[in-house]
Amino acid sequence: MATKPKIKQLLDESACSHNKTKKVACNAPKPGATTGGCAFEGAQIALFPYADAAHLVHGPMTCLGTSWETRTTGTSWQGRDLTQTGFTTDVSLNDVVFSGEEKLAKAIDYIIEYYSPEALFVYVTCVTALIGDDIDLICKRAAEKYDVPMIPVHAPGFVGSKNLGSRLGGEAVLAHLIGTKEPEESTPFDINLIGEYNVTGDMWQYTPLLKELGIRVLSTLSGDGRVAQIRTAHRAKLNVIVCAKSLISLTRKMEERYGIPSISLSFYGKRDTSKGILAIAEALDDAALVNRARTLVAREEQKLEEKLAPYVAFFKGKKAVLNTGGNKTWSIAAALQDLGIEVVATAVKKATEDDREKARQTLGEKGVLMMDPGAEQARLIDETGADLLLAGGRSLYTAIKKGIAFADVNQEKKKSYGGYDGLLNLAEDLKNAMQNPVFRNVARRAPWEK
Ligand code: SF4
Repeated sequence: MATKPKIKQLLDESACSHNKTKKVACNAPKPGATTGGCAFEGAQIALFPYADAAHLVHGPMTCLGTSWETRTTGTSWQGRDLTQTGFTTDVSLNDVVFSGEEKLAKAIDYIIEYYSPEALFVYVTCVTALIGDDIDLICKRAAEKYDVPMIPVHAPGFVGSKNLGSRLGGEAVLAHLIGTKEPEESTPFDINLIGEYNVTGDMWQYTPLLKELGIRVLSTLSGDGRVAQIRTAHRAKLNVIVCAKSLISLTRKMEERYGIPSISLSFYGKRDTSKGILAIAEALDDAALVNRARTLVAREEQKLEEKLAPYVAFFKGKKAVLNTGGNKTWSIAAALQDLGIEVVATAVKKATEDDREKARQTLGEKGVLMMDPGAEQARLIDETGADLLLAGGRSLYTAIKKGIAFADVNQEKKKSYGGYDGLLNLAEDLKNAMQNPVFRNVARRAPWEK
């Protein structure tokens, strides 16, 4: 079976709203695009949380180093967590000249013999795509030999951005896993969580609430995911896209192929968590379920408001600049607003057209959407008198220079900020950051300096 996805079709995704109005391709490669993470890295991010699968990088050792273990994706898998081991064929000059296929086949044999994974993802990288190793054929032969799913992931870094790579990871799962197994039982409220990677356990903040309502998470792509479950994903009643528009091609194709509708939502902040739970209940189209969801949301909001009250008083009048990507550009902004913080600017450079529109709605007309946050954020901190910068680790130095508090909201974050309880974690972390004197002190001039 030909499994290489057509990049052009993925760039012109019809389900992206801007493609309906403008003739603009999403995720089109631009010079320098891979400096923010290459397509291979994006594919690994999308698939790596499957801890019962082995992830074999067919390329130089350095490719593995770019993405392995960069995120704290929680898993409750009781077996051997195979993501703790980095697998690579480490192709060398010799392989470039004489082909790396034999090495790949041997690596697969080795992993199957010593690690017994539920499936094996084989990632193509720039070098192995350029030398033309036939990864599809090797995976096919190995799958037949061992009766274990072998999934070639065609997302070499040079095809484009991290976002496109995640989309290609989704294509690989659709081509090789989804629909290959039947679930033991089906319920009317089976859903798939798509694009939820369970970073720092975000999904564990809200899945107990879904369970309480009788909604079953049939499978995930890929947070706390299991290979056996994603193989049954075609029997779900609803696809819930959480924070990852890159997987919209996958959900559109699942709708065409299996008739599964999809909704897109966020679980950051009080309002969005409530809206998300209600949206799932409404999409499952059951009046009793919707009523139960309303009661649950009201109960959880009341509990949260009581706990949040002292924080909201503390944050009164505080302003924040947000520099992150994807749908966090607006979902984290909404969470900050729930805490009573004014978000004066958010970075939209790494956001889709849809996310930019939502960011505009969330921040209102006065809020600044930063297209070049590296250059703009320091100036905006001065102009707006912001008290807080929320960003990835690289922006810490801007906060230090400006003497304002800093919080990491990207994948390096240590605590979950998802769901209702995650908002409390966020409030606590931001309060601690603001009360921490280190930011003011390191920015202070020495007494002998003017
Ligand atoms: S896949 Fe290509 S761009 Fe990505 S890390 Fe490897 S060599 Fe670099």
